[in-house]
Amino acid sequence: MKSIAYAIGLAAVTLCGGAAAQQQYPTRNVNMLVPFAAGGPTDTVARVVAQAMGKPLGQTVVVENRPSAGGILAPEQVKNAKPDGYQILIHHIGMATTPTLYRQLRFNPLTDFEYIGLINEVPMTIVAKPTMPAKDFKEFLAYIKANKDKVSYANAGIGAASHLCGMLFMSAIQTDFLTVPYKGTGPAMNDLLGGQVDFMCDQTTSTSSQIKSGKVKVYGITSAQRVASLPDVPTLQEQGLKGADVGIWHGLYAPKGTPKPVMDKLVGALQEALADATVRQRFTDLGAVTYPKERQNPAALQAHLKAEIEKWAPLIKKAGQYAD
Ligand code: ASP
Repeated sequence: MKSIAYAIGLAAVTLCGGAAAQQQYPTRNVNMLVPFAAGGPTDTVARVVAQAMGKPLGQTVVVENRPSAGGILAPEQVKNAKPDGYQILIHHIGMATTPTLYRQLRFNPLTDFEYIGLINEVPMTIVAKPTMPAKDFKEFLAYIKANKDKVSYANAGIGAASHLCGMLFMSAIQTDFLTVPYKGTGPAMNDLLGGQVDFMCDQTTSTSSQIKSGKVKVYGITSAQRVASLPDVPTLQEQGLKGADVGIWHGLYAPKGTPKPVMDKLVGALQEALADATVRQRFTDLGAVTYPKERQNPAALQAHLKAEIEKWAPLIKKAGQYAD
């Protein structure tokens, strides 16, 4: 009898302890896992958001790069992390494309996570090494088609945005190129600048400064509209190329089972971060569009993810004959 009472007491204490810990959350640093290499576009978005979320959370949000081809390891690690709010994931459209691209994925984007909210959407740009001879998109197309056995395309592995964009592009122009995979487009950009690879498709968060300083050649934007921060760069559509439209959206996730009081704090912190004038300006400068407040929440991210999985599955299958 005594031991039952003791056990009940212990359970109550543990429960209260758990509830108290949830109310006091966070009492230490929060880790934000990034699926790609440091210095790349996802890393850039992560660092802006992490720094701004630190203020409302009252703790530092530490960006941890866990790069892997296609970005498939970080989601698995967050899936397997303790659901206590100290390990969260930032990811992009790869959460919606990998379920179609991989036969065996060790996480399920629709069942293994809690959703914090949508962050922003970033267009991509077709950029080439500084010595690429073509002076406009027409010449670029003619050049890469004429040299298709020599030209190489850099990406961040199957499931990366650069992979998706390249796949759509190759399918649209009906030409394959040798693809060189990196663990992020940060290192890929270094090789592009050095001329070791010929071209790639990367987010404006990474390419804007290189384009503005003339360090890379740019041949088009993958969104339907031009980007305010790069007003002189025409879209691919404007230049007559259909079927390569892609916008890279970012979302924030926590492991499935993260308690509601913790989730509420993370959602509130994300919303506060995205309302911050410095954050908004920084995103604008990088060509990114912050989602409106009504989409910076769990329901909107979950709905968007589901819709994107459904949208991309047939397009990937169609373009897949040109995938690497
Ligand atoms: N955005 C990735 C990075 O940060 C690469 C990609 O998705 O293509 O490197």
